[in-house]
Amino acid sequence: MDAKTSRYNAVNGTTKTKVTAIPGDGIGPEVVRAVQRILAAAGAQIDWEEAEAGAEVFKRGIASGAPQETLDSIARNGIVLKGPLETPVGYGEKSANVTLRKFFELYGNIRPVRELPGIRTPFSGRGIDMVIVRENVEDLYTGIEHMQTAGAAQCLKLITEPGSERILRLAAALTLAEGRHKLTCATKANIMKFTEGMMKRVFERIMPDYPAIEPSHMIIDNCAHQMVIAPEQFDVVVATNMNGDIISDLAAGLVGGLGVAPSSNIGDHAAMFEAVHGSAPQIAGKDLANPTALLLSAVMMLRHIGDFAAAEKVEQALLVTLEEGKNLTGDIAPKGTGVGTTAYTDQVIANLGRTSGYASRDYKALTLAEWPKGVWHRAPTERLVMGLDVFIESGALPAELAASLQAAAEGTGFGLKMIENRGVQVWPALSGQPFLVDLFRCRFLLDGPADSAEPAIAKLMAAIGAKHHWMHVEKLQRFDGKDGYTKAQGEN
Ligand code: NAP
Repeated sequence: MDAKTSRYNAVNGTTKTKVTAIPGDGIGPEVVRAVQRILAAAGAQIDWEEAEAGAEVFKRGIASGAPQETLDSIARNGIVLKGPLETPVGYGEKSANVTLRKFFELYGNIRPVRELPGIRTPFSGRGIDMVIVRENVEDLYTGIEHMQTAGAAQCLKLITEPGSERILRLAAALTLAEGRHKLTCATKANIMKFTEGMMKRVFERIMPDYPAIEPSHMIIDNCAHQMVIAPEQFDVVVATNMNGDIISDLAAGLVGGLGVAPSSNIGDHAAMFEAVHGSAPQIAGKDLANPTALLLSAVMMLRHIGDFAAAEKVEQALLVTLEEGKNLTGDIAPKGTGVGTTAYTDQVIANLGRTSGYASRDYKALTLAEWPKGVWHRAPTERLVMGLDVFIESGALPAELAASLQAAAEGTGFGLKMIENRGVQVWPALSGQPFLVDLFRCRFLLDGPADSAEPAIAKLMAAIGAKHHWMHVEKLQRFDGKDGYTKAQGEN
């Protein structure tokens, strides 16, 4: 590799790339060492910078699980090979993995799913070869949760237009870089029209920029079904965070499970490569761990930094080892023939330079358009405030609550339009038998002109607050003639 081809931290005067290595917890140090040995034997030009994260760091009282020196190392090098990290019970609320993903805005989680030789599954022989691209920082994983009442919890599903656009463009760039042709966007846009629908709309808007790619949209539940029925139809699949989390594990299960599943977490300024499995504490320190998943992650890393030759050499040696089935770790070896991590690593090293019967792809560098700095903001030409949804805790029946709220709204400029409970209108009453809990969404519409909204809101909230517990308020806005809010089930 020419140092100039790498956008990462080349070591002065050499063609080496500096990479932050985080051994992590449990089997992490064993699999990281095994991979480092194989990469060195393959001649990969890497200068490792070791950094700490995980259980021991939490125990020292660092609540993020990653000390400043580790964050500095990642910021400097922009590339990380990471072992699994544990959050010990009783230390910190947040996982160190999530901290690293969010801190470095690693918005794209890439999970290749390919049938491997010698790993028998009920799907063997079907030619499964796909990549799942999962949005990695938005959606329900923003971690914004609130107890609304003592017995009702809420989690915010946040999907943004730029967040959707950059993951979709990453998925498209990856499709081209790997010489693939089909990109499926899987969403639940039929139910969540604004959030999941955002991903679908942006997909439809940007795909004409990629004429070499055949785009398709699939409802996520059908996508899960199709993945089991006919997994060979998929090439690249892109999804929002939660849906992507589920289908990427499902897809990994088709080709041998999490133990052999690699992944990368890609951002504009850093990329982190890791196995999908955890720290497997039961087998830690016993020379039993299988380093395959981390090795495949390291192959992704070599391609990411532009060292295609080393990536190919390591991948072929691994495929030959799996094909021949000699000296495999116990989890994948034929019964009674398993060896330890060290012997398996030695076998892969012995196979360096050999070529498997497995066709290689013609990988190209993944080029990402850097997102402009600063706050993304697109002001609408017209914005109207139409009303207010007020979330109220109450043990009263809907008719009683409505009477109280109508009285409170009098003279404020707002009128009560409807009350719903868990998405279903309960006042004015509809037929049916609603199941009621103590959290009501009460919709008020502005009677007067939209520009009088702010003083009217202050009046309405003061009147409601004098009589009721309210938790939060959502403005009902119309952007450029389009309502920015949904109707309750049954609402006209
Ligand atoms: P796990 O560590 O993936 O282990 C589950 C089981 O899978 C192990 O007991 C072992 O089975 C097998 N296994 C996993 N990786 C293996 C490997 N490389 N070689 C051989 N066998 C392997 O899942 P977990 O027990 O749910 O999680 C343990 C800890 O890891 C937790 O603290 C969790 O939070 C953390 N975790 C971290 C990450 C990450 O850092 N990205 C991801 C997931 C979990 P046998 O016992 O049958 O040998």
